[in-house]
Amino acid sequence: MELRWNPVMETWVMVSAARQHRPFLPKTNCPFCPGSGKVPDHYDVFLYPNDWPHLMPNPPEPTIPDDELLRVERAFGQCDVVLYCPDHNGSIKDLPLDHARKLFALWRDHYRAMRRRDDVKYVLIFENKGDIIGVTIPHPHGQIYAYPYIPARPAREIESARRYWDSHDRTCLFCTILQKELAFQRRIIWTSKHFAAFLPSYADYPYEVHIYPRRHVQSLDDFTPDEGDDFMRGIQRQVRLYDRLFGFELPFMMGFHQEPVDGGEYPYYHFHVEFYPLHRAPDRIKYNAGTETAGGAFTNPSSPEEKAAELRSKLDRTADNG
Ligand SMILES: [Zn+2]
Ligand SMILES: [Zn+2]
Ligand SMILES: [Zn+2]
Repeated sequence: MELRWNPVMETWVMVSAARQHRPFLPKTNCPFCPGSGKVPDHYDVFLYPNDWPHLMPNPPEPTIPDDELLRVERAFGQCDVVLYCPDHNGSIKDLPLDHARKLFALWRDHYRAMRRRDDVKYVLIFENKGDIIGVTIPHPHGQIYAYPYIPARPAREIESARRYWDSHDRTCLFCTILQKELAFQRRIIWTSKHFAAFLPSYADYPYEVHIYPRRHVQSLDDFTPDEGDDFMRGIQRQVRLYDRLFGFELPFMMGFHQEPVDGGEYPYYHFHVEFYPLHRAPDRIKYNAGTETAGGAFTNPSSPEEKAAELRSKLDRTADNG
């Protein structure tokens, strides 16, 4: 297990050869259920150390020598699993508010704890959901990776936001995008007191949705308690909406984009959440193909304005009232 530098793309790759020997878990024995012996017998939410981490507080020495160009480094950091609830068939969308608050507190407290670590520069809270995403355990859970570097996608966003800030008299790129979406309206999915969800004009996936706080904040550590509650209700509303879209639990990847925890100042960055479902229709998946993979150039086979209207039509006006 180690980090290997890609000098062509200027990014690190986490190499963990041992993971290929990861056992297939028997479907009858969920390790995340109370009584499994792997988790407490009673819990609401639980931070479970990843059994097969890519990053560790005390990583082993690399398996090959370092090179000045093809750099090899120890894989410092941490990988954890976040169990949302003890109920195997539960869902984040159904958690009562007091339970959802515990999940928010776990995310925030872990982000804070990682901020204090010298070997951690970026914390990604994310979720992979559904078998088409390759999730082997259906028990409701997400993950947190604490990296010793800033991963490529947030790094690029931070660069864009910094340039926009510098060239527009300290105006936030994300606040500006949000203002434009709220003015245009046609890609807005829902709004609440403190948040707005929209399908970006430049979405890579047909049903991609981003959730922005209205206030210019850099991480979930900056939320007021009222914003925290509204945030959790927003996440739940979005998942409910996705599950109503085709009448089954929609698989997706989801991540929180926050400021790095490397000790730097990022006044120009703006916290947000991005959801990427792979479906383009109930029975059709949008796979990344040649142009996306070889070209890094995404194609969206649908109109963001039409897909936003379709998602809006699935809102339950009473239950999903912001
Ligand atoms: Zn379970
Ligand atoms: Zn902003
Ligand atoms: Zn982002």
